[in-house]
Amino acid sequence: MDIQWYPGHMARAKRLVQENLKLVDVVIELLDARLPASSRNPLIDEVTRHKPRLVVLNKTDLADPAETARWLLWFNQQGMGALAVDAAHGRGVREVPAAVQRLAAARIAALAAAGRRPRPPRCMVLGIPNVGKSMLINALAGRAATRTANRPGVTRGQQWVRLARGVELLDTPGVLWPKFGDQEAAMKLAATGAIREEVYQPEEVAVWLAGWLRQRHPRVLPERYAMAENAGEPVLEQIAVKRGLLGPGGRPDVSRAAGHLLKEFREGKLGRITLDPPPGN
Ligand code: GDP
Repeated sequence: MDIQWYPGHMARAKRLVQENLKLVDVVIELLDARLPASSRNPLIDEVTRHKPRLVVLNKTDLADPAETARWLLWFNQQGMGALAVDAAHGRGVREVPAAVQRLAAARIAALAAAGRRPRPPRCMVLGIPNVGKSMLINALAGRAATRTANRPGVTRGQQWVRLARGVELLDTPGVLWPKFGDQEAAMKLAATGAIREEVYQPEEVAVWLAGWLRQRHPRVLPERYAMAENAGEPVLEQIAVKRGLLGPGGRPDVSRAAGHLLKEFREGKLGRITLDPPPGN
């Protein structure tokens, strides 16, 4: 989470990922199910080249289930394996090793056909900060996981973790940078908490989120904060009044209202909401 992305850091992150990619058969691209488009690294296709890819949508406990289903279908149509998980509660995680094994099968068979020694299918997790990479690796590894010994070709300190179906997982994830150029993607990333507080204005993000919700889910704010659907008063003022967030002279404290709205959204208190609509919607 503490990464500031400068061109030098991006070049280094890309190089590190490409080094580790050489060791694996399948890339697990981890995305936020609320943001399957905005939480992708902009150069993901270039970085992963032709490695078979399993897209894993995480934090599905916070996303709209119907939209998650449509996103899975779309990724499948793009020729990628796709699964939905909730790493925080371990849901869906058990499907991952079998999916990796399926996607790696052709490569493993090719090695055997070339007379190479059989070896387990290998994978690594790749994604932007805060999508839940560590949590997924921990959920996959579990208590029973056996760590295999250091092997040549693996950066010192990194290890393979043995999963079900004989699949091996690199225990450290690949970290790539998020989208910067796209204003809307940046707002969505900030709204979900994927970007550090220091680099955006919470009020600006909260106003954006409230506007987006009013357009896409017009009942959500009025129901949560018992306020008029189209009242003239700005949303943050109304939330401040409803929640008793008042400053000197009893004036609505818009800054605290912004923090409150963002916190409630991130905790799922406004419902299970997907910010990136599936393509074709
Ligand atoms: P990383 O930076 O990609 O390694 O992300 P982390 O594994 O550190 O997770 C980032 C944040 O997302 C943490 O606060 C986690 O508790 C939270 N998180 C991860 N997975 C899930 C999930 O499936 N559901 C929910 N609600 N939160 C999650």
